[in-house]
Amino acid sequence: MSVVVVGAGPTGLATACALRTQGVPVRVVDGAVAPATTSRALGLQPRGGEVLGRLGALGDLPRRSVSIRRVVIHVGGRRAGELRVGQPTKLVRQPGLLVSQAEVEARLRARLGELGVAVEWGTRVVGVEQDDGGVVLSTSAGHVGAEWVVGCDGAHSVVRKASGVGFPGVPLVEGFVLGDVRVELPLPRDAVGVWVRGEEMFSAFPLPDGVWRFMAPAPGVAVEDVPAFLAACAGRHAGVRIGAGGEWVWTSVFRIHRRLAGTYRQGRVLLAGDAAHIHSPFGGQGMNTGLGDAENLAWRLALVTSGRAGHGLLDGYEAERRPVAADVLDSTSGLTGLVLGESALARVVRDRVLFPLMGLPPVRKLIWEQASQLKTSYAQSPSADDRASATGFPSSPATTSSAGRSPHRRATRACRRRATCWVTCERCTARAERCSSAPTDTSRGAGSPIRTRCAER
Ligand SMILES: Cc1cc2nc3c(=O)[nH]c(=O)nc-3n(C[C@H](O)[C@H](O)[C@H](O)COP(=O)(O)OP(=O)(O)OC[C@H]3O[C@@H](n4cnc5c(N)ncnc54)[C@H](O)[C@@H]3O)c2cc1C
Repeated sequence: MSVVVVGAGPTGLATACALRTQGVPVRVVDGAVAPATTSRALGLQPRGGEVLGRLGALGDLPRRSVSIRRVVIHVGGRRAGELRVGQPTKLVRQPGLLVSQAEVEARLRARLGELGVAVEWGTRVVGVEQDDGGVVLSTSAGHVGAEWVVGCDGAHSVVRKASGVGFPGVPLVEGFVLGDVRVELPLPRDAVGVWVRGEEMFSAFPLPDGVWRFMAPAPGVAVEDVPAFLAACAGRHAGVRIGAGGEWVWTSVFRIHRRLAGTYRQGRVLLAGDAAHIHSPFGGQGMNTGLGDAENLAWRLALVTSGRAGHGLLDGYEAERRPVAADVLDSTSGLTGLVLGESALARVVRDRVLFPLMGLPPVRKLIWEQASQLKTSYAQSPSADDRASATGFPSSPATTSSAGRSPHRRATRACRRRATCWVTCERCTARAERCSSAPTDTSRGAGSPIRTRCAER
């Protein structure tokens, strides 16, 4: 088998789908006995949606999701401001979607099935050995051989540990609780609500099927006490009552860490998703960052496994994706510190300066475009030359961004620099004659190089 993907979370499933669409033989093993049904990540950012679209795995998710238009912030019980998100900008055309990670995984599994691969559940990896010729995984179901292994086995990745890759970082928040409850509430379902009062914080996210996700910092609360704790928070902060009719679908207690793998590649073993980076859930970036890793890695592996590029092409994966993860660690840690207000002075600045600032259109646009992940660009990537030299790569299906104009505009800008492009821009291609092409954002898909001149040049 060319590639074995360990872990059937969003990152592993997306990696496997992307490899299969490029003709690479792939197996997916997962230690769980069956797919998870809990919501976990709930923010599908515009770029994550684009990746799913290019993989043919978006399906009816936009229709099944809740579109978020606003984050409404309350300080000390009073409405203090509103951050409009999901407003179209020149870069971002799609709203952010709230949908359960379980649904995203289900769509990816269905797509993977169409591509002829079924996840091998109940296959827990316990050891990894490699030499120049390949990798052998020791699993609960026996030995599995592969030319390449992609470790998408989450924060406690056995693949990472067995490969000797460090995961340095620090805990950020000691105790945090979440609960998904199906209940009718007099709160707007196109808005995320955030309530802060001194050191306390409470947030409410509308999810499909009449479910609300509540989250709050709460050191020392046991998981069985989460419903009562969150119901009390909802009453105290948002003034809403979760009565006996509220159906608690899922509750969890967790700690927040920020950690980044020392390297993304150890010989024939590569790491992606939470196996390579973990951070605060504030800002809803984790699953989306894993989807971006998957797409970036898959086109490289497809070229390497088919002999069209040398192993060195894989180093560009770390060069391009590790800085993206480092930025996500920084921005989500910053947002967490801001919202939780770690000192009295920080809370005054938060309540009187930063929250009001968020209402300003330029700040709003900055935050929304950053969160969308559509600002990620590899135009300055040290591995741009790899891309240029790796010719003969097949187009992936539907490589045009749903953001429409943004990659086109980037491509147009880059065309002026007369470099080589690995992003297919349908608009350019359609209008163009001939082009030395444009380097831009390879995570927009492993597209054909644009061999055309942008008409708007
Ligand atoms: C409360 C909360 C809210 C979040 N909200 C968001 C959000 O809004 N937006 C967002 O983008 N992200 C969010 N995240 C983060 C998101 O859930 C993760 O980033 C995402 O699950 C990572 O996907 P993954 O596929 O890399 O890893 P995982 O989802 O952890 O999947 C790992 C898979 O590997 C399997 N596995 C583990 N060990 C082994 C082994 N030894 N052998 C075989 N299989 C193994 C597991 O069974 C699992 O299926 C949130 C996280 C939390 C906790």
